[in-house]
Amino acid sequence: MSLFTTARPFVIAGPCSAETREQVMETAAALSAMGVQLFRAGVWKPRTRPGQFEGNGAAALEWLQEAKATYNLPMTIEVAEPAHIELALKYGMDALWIGARTTVNPFQVQHLADALRGVDIPVMVKNPVNTDVDLWMGAIERFEAVGIKEVAAIHRGFSGYGAAGGYRNQPNWPIPIELKRRRPELMMICDPSHITGKRERIGEIAQKAMDMHFEGLMIETHPRPDEAWSDAAQQVTPEKLQEILSTLVVREEYTTDMSGVMQLEYLRQLMDSIDSEIIDLLAKRMELSGKMGEVKRDCNMTAYQPARWREMVEKCAERAELHLLPKEFIVALYEKIHDESIRQQLAILEDKGKLKLKSENP
Ligand code: PEP
Ligand code: MN
Repeated sequence: MSLFTTARPFVIAGPCSAETREQVMETAAALSAMGVQLFRAGVWKPRTRPGQFEGNGAAALEWLQEAKATYNLPMTIEVAEPAHIELALKYGMDALWIGARTTVNPFQVQHLADALRGVDIPVMVKNPVNTDVDLWMGAIERFEAVGIKEVAAIHRGFSGYGAAGGYRNQPNWPIPIELKRRRPELMMICDPSHITGKRERIGEIAQKAMDMHFEGLMIETHPRPDEAWSDAAQQVTPEKLQEILSTLVVREEYTTDMSGVMQLEYLRQLMDSIDSEIIDLLAKRMELSGKMGEVKRDCNMTAYQPARWREMVEKCAERAELHLLPKEFIVALYEKIHDESIRQQLAILEDKGKLKLKSENP
């Protein structure tokens, strides 16, 4: 029987770390009463710096085994080494997850996949810490290649310098969306705890994940979050988890409401025609840019003129405001368009250089 049920969201909850037997049992009692489908806990913790709590190892596995038997609650832990897999299987864990710092390393992922050859257990692969969809997919493929039948992806955000947008790890939604585009059947789970790093924002990101059609959520839960031995700021109590889940609005990808379907079809056709116009206009813009490149070349001017670009950014921002569009979005879009224009004009300038060289050396 498959562990991952189809009802959305599939909920995985439990503490960042299994700290004590009492903490594990207390959390599992509350979560199983709420109907959480899978209990998570860290047994070996990947800590950024040495000297911090690194998990209770095999002792914690005994507590998880006891909680599983007492509350009939399936269990999942992070594994980062083949020896972890051996112990996880020995203690009857029901699913494994691969941490973000492991997914980045294809050698290590392959060691783990080799240790799972011929084993029937679901594996959830967290995104690598860097924004590389191929690396994420590659790790997933390594587990599939050794015969793991139930593989899921966990989106936990990506490292960046500083805390832009107030996140602990940047969500970079286009990355999980691209993974799902390439692998539509893949179960996608969002981990709002590690994305936000703050318990206050978990509900907001969980809702966003539902609206992006994720299938599951992994949320760190602790009976007394402020006393947690790791990731205290991002854990919620089981009661808070209940509240977050009960206020989620779960929308469907498709609807059987025919009037909704017709309206959407009509709006999609309008949008498709606007998209075609945007591309036609971009082609015209590029043509103009090419002509400007020729003038710049003939007048010995640089392709890029900082003052002109500053003026364009201001104009774009003003126009965006007029339509109540976010300035940052329009400016970022124009940066891309402008970069391409400059790239083409540079090629025109460079061609002139080549022509000159040729005429100098017939
Ligand atoms: C965790 O889930 O506790 C964890 C360490 O996650 P990540 O690999 O996403 O940092
Ligand atoms: Mn954690």
